[in-house]
Amino acid sequence: MLIPGAAPAIRRINDSGLRAIVVTNQRGIALGRMTTRDLERIHVRLGALLEADGGASIDAFFYCPHNSGTCTCRKPNTGMVLEAQRRWPDIDLARSVIVGDSRSDVGLGEALGMSTILLPSDAPDLAAAVDIIIGKADVHLQGMPSSRAPG
Ligand SMILES: [Zn+2]
Repeated sequence: MLIPGAAPAIRRINDSGLRAIVVTNQRGIALGRMTTRDLERIHVRLGALLEADGGASIDAFFYCPHNSGTCTCRKPNTGMVLEAQRRWPDIDLARSVIVGDSRSDVGLGEALGMSTILLPSDAPDLAAAVDIIIGKADVHLQGMPSSRAPG
């Protein structure tokens, strides 16, 4: 069920002292295809799979349950990232990276001055994206931290 390599990649984020935060559009809730309870169960299950597969963990999931054009949180709107920043005021968006597979992910990051990694064009997969994020790859991203956060 997990993409191979995803859990070890997230584990490397955890071990580097960075936060791993999920922001996800879930319009299916507005459309009645699932409930918030269903989605929260999926997130719990996903967390258990990540833990079992790689000892990895997600610090928080933020989701937008709304339909297009009805809120300020559906990506590429910025609401979910700003909510994460309210929870952790030390988040420095200029030193944060959004990894995604759609233009809405990149648009959100650009709107907030974050670095962006679009899969698969900027990096082939999550493991490669993590290489960039933690500075092991020979790629420079504007705004990236120059050294690892204390872990
Ligand atoms: Zn929303």
